[in-house]
Amino acid sequence: LRPGLRRRAVRMIVASNLSKRYPGGYEAIRDVSFAIEAGQMVLITGHSGAGKSTLVKLIAAVERPTSGSLVVNGQNVAALRRSAIPYLRRHFGMVFQDQKLLFDRSVLDNVLLPLQIVGLSRREAIRRAQAALDKVGLLTREKVTPIALSGGEQQRLAIARAVVNRPAVLLADEPTGNLDIESADAILGIFADFHRVGVTVVVATHDQHWIQRYHPNVLCLDHGRMAA
Ligand code: ADP
Repeated sequence: LRPGLRRRAVRMIVASNLSKRYPGGYEAIRDVSFAIEAGQMVLITGHSGAGKSTLVKLIAAVERPTSGSLVVNGQNVAALRRSAIPYLRRHFGMVFQDQKLLFDRSVLDNVLLPLQIVGLSRREAIRRAQAALDKVGLLTREKVTPIALSGGEQQRLAIARAVVNRPAVLLADEPTGNLDIESADAILGIFADFHRVGVTVVVATHDQHWIQRYHPNVLCLDHGRMAA
């Protein structure tokens, strides 16, 4: 590429002097500023209670900031109308520790669920769901119920469900929290694969493993503030 034609970095998530005080009065995020570019893989780290989960919830508009601004894909989340939140969430695939999988449905049905609102044909929806299951190594398990899966496999299923709508941003909160090292490694590899194909990946974790293995960009929180 000639220099003039090089694509400019697109800023996907920009926080400026962001703060979050919970109703009880505790300030979980204090004057935090950062920018995450499209296609970056970023870890949010810090001690227990540092504010990692709160920051993830702010980015996903599950919680609202008390002050400061948070711009996601060009929209200021702090000023967003409630009715606009589902639109914002379309950019996100979200993976949380508590997955809320449907245990009375098959693995495939669990991944099909988020596609129902998109209005695809049944055939196209199944094709996409199977492609997502393939990416996380669960295609051969599509017919079983999630009860038959190990903890690591359930987490992979949650990732398949999160990515089936092809989100621009994959947002995860402690996705390897309860897993043994081998399962955690598999999850890490899957996130890295999505990063490699251009998805912006943001993961809150206290797991040192992530940092050692991928040396990604790190946002380290300390009592709600950005650590130096
Ligand atoms: P981390 O994910 O780093 O462990 P959290 O974001 O969960 O940190 O919590 C940061 C601080 O905010 C903690 O002191 C926690 O007790 C407090 N907190 C979290 N959620 C709430 C809430 N809904 N109401 C009041 N305080 C909260």
